Amino acid sequence: MKIGIRHITLLFLIGFTSLVQSQTSIVSDSIQSYIEKAEKLQEEYKYEKSLEIAKAALQTALYNNDDKSLGHIYNIIAKNYEINEDFIKARGNYRKALVYAKSSKSRVLETDLYNSMARVFTKYNLTRAKGVTYYKKSYEYAITLKDTARMLRPLLNLGEYYIVRSDFDSAFEYLEPAQELIQSNSSNLVKTKLTGLLGKYFLNTRKYEEAEDYIDQAISYAKGETKNKDNNDQLVSTYYEELASAYQTKSELYKKQDDYQRAYTYQKKHFQNILLSKDKKKLQELRKAITEYEVDLLEKRAKKAESEKKESESEVLKWRISIILGIILILISLAFLISSYKNNIQKKRLNSDLIEKNKELISAKETAEQVSTLKSQFISTVSHELRTPLYGVIGLTSLLMENPEEKKKNEYLESLKFSGDYLLALINDVLQLSKIETNEVKLEKVSFDIRSLIEGIVNSLHTKQKSNNNTVHIDIDKEINTTLLGDSVRLSQILINLIGNALKFTKDGNIWINVKCLEQKNDSYHLRFLVKDDGIGIPKSKQKSIFDNFAQVKNENQEYEGTGLGLAIVKKLIHLHNSEIKIKSQEGKGSEFYFDLSYEKAVKQRETALQSGENLSIGTTNFYVLIVDDNKINQIVTQNILKKKGYTCNIASNGMDAIKMLKEEQFDLVLMDINMPEMNGLEATKVVRTFNPSIPIIALTAVEEGEIRKQALSVGMNDVIVKPYDTQQFFQTIMRNISKVKMA
Ligand code: ADP
Repeated sequence: MKIGIRHITLLFLIGFTSLVQSQTSIVSDSIQSYIEKAEKLQEEYKYEKSLEIAKAALQTALYNNDDKSLGHIYNIIAKNYEINEDFIKARGNYRKALVYAKSSKSRVLETDLYNSMARVFTKYNLTRAKGVTYYKKSYEYAITLKDTARMLRPLLNLGEYYIVRSDFDSAFEYLEPAQELIQSNSSNLVKTKLTGLLGKYFLNTRKYEEAEDYIDQAISYAKGETKNKDNNDQLVSTYYEELASAYQTKSELYKKQDDYQRAYTYQKKHFQNILLSKDKKKLQELRKAITEYEVDLLEKRAKKAESEKKESESEVLKWRISIILGIILILISLAFLISSYKNNIQKKRLNSDLIEKNKELISAKETAEQVSTLKSQFISTVSHELRTPLYGVIGLTSLLMENPEEKKKNEYLESLKFSGDYLLALINDVLQLSKIETNEVKLEKVSFDIRSLIEGIVNSLHTKQKSNNNTVHIDIDKEINTTLLGDSVRLSQILINLIGNALKFTKDGNIWINVKCLEQKNDSYHLRFLVKDDGIGIPKSKQKSIFDNFAQVKNENQEYEGTGLGLAIVKKLIHLHNSEIKIKSQEGKGSEFYFDLSYEKAVKQRETALQSGENLSIGTTNFYVLIVDDNKINQIVTQNILKKKGYTCNIASNGMDAIKMLKEEQFDLVLMDINMPEMNGLEATKVVRTFNPSIPIIALTAVEEGEIRKQALSVGMNDVIVKPYDTQQFFQTIMRNISKVKMA
């Protein structure tokens, strides 16, 4: 059987041996040339070399997806398994080769592969029939290729297949066309094989002469080749096998012809040649062992190469996926970073906005709370402060109405006056404070004389505080030799409060009022105002709080009249001038309030004397005054006050009447109310000025002086007196204005 297999194995080589040239080195770089060389070397039984080249070719072909080359390479590998009698592996590799041959449309390879596969398939009963069809397929393909050598291979294989199975008719079906195809240039192995098979065929069909003829031909071809030095051991061994086979046929031929002597001789030759073949095989076997190892190695490498390729493909894929994922991750991270950075900035901004807003809200809340507590405190204090004197006013009025005795009457009237004065001061202070707090107070610029302003204040206050028996010292810096330009009304308010307090909280003591010029410029003075007393003083702990609304230092021994708003107003008014009030005080020793203010210089030195009206002596107070007022009570009060001082008065109840009377009579001065029905004081003044430009007209109003002064002066009025007025100031203003006209 083994010899049979060897024969079959060798058949695919038939037709190529003559073309083979021994080559030991690879000279071409292309896969195709590698394959060709590997095939040639295999045909020469140079398996090691063939495999070496196939190995190199396989890796390159796998990497290049070169299907055609892969077909050839797997074919070479399969053949090696076949030679090594591992037919299962051989079959697998042939199948692989066939797949690649088909996909690369390699007809020649397909032809060879069908022949090779048929050889393997026909070895097993189960696949034998398929093997035969494969031989036939190979033969058909070879016909289309018009390739005689390839046509001969399946024909000879089929011939042998049927002869082995003693189906001689079938065998001849294939041997006959082979006989026709054989050519002089066909290889000696093909010729040996064909003649040997024909010998067997004719022997079994009892055509002994023809049989002997073909057998001798076979012996002749084979013998010659065993001596051919170009043939390698494998080929020589094959020829010895063919020779042995031919001698056996010849022995059988003689046996059939009963020539046992000759039959024995050829039988001996048959064994001798088997031995010779074996001898040559030894080396081949040795090489085969190496080849087997090489084939395994090659297979492993091929598998490895394939898996490496797959691995590398999957590696590449993995790598690509990793890169894409990486990029996506980086992009996501970047987007996340950017958005979180933006978010952070936005958060920070929002946070700082929120903090800012919170601060604002907290301070607004605190202010609101403060305002609310201040308001309620203010309302309750004011209500209490109002209720107390009002209670007095009402009570005293009822007592007076009961016609008490004269002595009591005066006492009641004095108390009534006190309550009235207090109410007036309180209302004035509250109004003043609320105006400052709501930023309604704007500083005016009028010219005034600082001396007459302070003296006026002292005069009006001192008369009130006569009971305290204080001496007032006024010291005004001589450097101040011009009138000043500024808000005299606010300065009066400040000083009235400070001087009033000093007089109030000092008994049998001294009050010092100093105005010092700290700095004089071309057009302005920087002045320090100081109001000092040696009165009761203020405890250190209270010195800050006395400037708060309604703050009063509790004094157990004495009751002082006051609203507790004076210093709050003072502080705010000085603040309006961008300055601060300072205090130095010691309990029991006295207090000192001082502040610095700047005033512009108004007029030149020589003019100042004219400004202070009360210093002028004009001899008499018997002047004729027109009182213009719609309120009957006010008419009576003003008339009586003037009459007491020796003035003569007439009354007009509205602007129209006033104009009429002024046209008819000669008055020295007009006291004009502003708010009146039909024609108000401002309009009336405008008309009066059309026919009498010189008569002094003084606005007599309950409206805040600051608000009305500008308006009043603009329509031609000369001065403003605010109701209810201090009588002393009232007369000073009247006198100042009359004297201005008289002196002119
Ligand atoms: P009041 O209307 O009570 O005088 P002020 O605001 O003017 O209100 O003063 C607040 C308090 O400060 C006074 O009640 C008094 O206790 C204290 N005070 C102010 N000036 C003096 C001073 N010259 N000597 C002593 N105490 C003073």
